[in-house]
Amino acid sequence: MSVIDLRSDTVTQPTAGMREAMLRAEVGDDVYGEDPTVNHLEQHLANRLGFAEGLFVPSGTMSNLLGLMAHCERGDEYIVGQEAHTYKYEGGGAAVLGSIQPQPLAVEADGTLDLARVAAAIKPDDFHFARTRLLALENTMQSKVLPLTYLAAARQLTHEYGLALHLDGARLYNAAVKLGVDAREITQHFDSVSVCLSKGLGAPIGSVLCGSAELIGKARRLRKMVGGGMRQAGILAAAGLYALQHQVERLAEDHANAALLAEGLRELGYTVEPVQTNMVYMPMGQQARALQAFVAERGIKVSAAARLRLVTHLDVSAADIQRVIESFAAFRHV
Ligand SMILES: *Cc1c(COP(=O)(O)O)cnc(C)c1O
Repeated sequence: MSVIDLRSDTVTQPTAGMREAMLRAEVGDDVYGEDPTVNHLEQHLANRLGFAEGLFVPSGTMSNLLGLMAHCERGDEYIVGQEAHTYKYEGGGAAVLGSIQPQPLAVEADGTLDLARVAAAIKPDDFHFARTRLLALENTMQSKVLPLTYLAAARQLTHEYGLALHLDGARLYNAAVKLGVDAREITQHFDSVSVCLSKGLGAPIGSVLCGSAELIGKARRLRKMVGGGMRQAGILAAAGLYALQHQVERLAEDHANAALLAEGLRELGYTVEPVQTNMVYMPMGQQARALQAFVAERGIKVSAAARLRLVTHLDVSAADIQRVIESFAAFRHV
């Protein structure tokens, strides 16, 4: 029985074409700036997203950390969602390593931060307060796509108050594909953007931070400091380039499969939250763990916390979705 792993879109295996690209990659020592494939990836994504420069790093956590630290000094503050990855799921790195105070705010039902609340949280210039420097948004935010009009309004607000605007765009391309727009329509509003290559795009490792030459210069120094300077990293960058060239449009299949899954589960009587991109959330309460164990015996892996989370990706087919629905149907008859 083959395993269907819906825990995350990080579990994808490199495709044959990707492995071939990795095998053929020209490499050099990237700490010396001499890896042609890393340089190509950084420039390619920066151009594609409308920034001067890019920086290849091992993880999205490092990419966000370097972005925050490049924007903020010790004793500065960034405004961020209570459920945002940079705040909640990155070990408090901005505070621990950057001495940057987070000011978390509740995330609205649509994944945005209420801009009136953001404005109210910006500290006046007074020595009692940390200096508010940056607003960090996330898109997609737990699979929700932030509206383009909202991004424009957030940009306007940050201009008004002299704040920088950072995007945790781990799943930027899920948002762009869902909206049917060029990713630049999203990234044009930001001073820096972090993009994960290792989520739905299907690369084994890597993220890219994009921004101005000055910002990326700072981030490059910080990358070395936190141990993220890699040597013949072109082997990995080749996978990222391949993903950007061949595995962006197909994200629409993941979205279609997530919609198919949600529909099937609703027909069985399950409560399923509205699906926008590649994640299906089910508020299950007490039953979550029992259901997780039940489907695990049938070769289906899901994440269970307060909600069950099922994530579609490169290695999940429409036929797999049918098998998942059948297992969930069997659970209802236990
Ligand atoms: C996965 C993820 C990250 C960080 O990625 P890692 O590569 O696992 O460190 C950042 N932000 C969001 C929204 C993510 O989903």
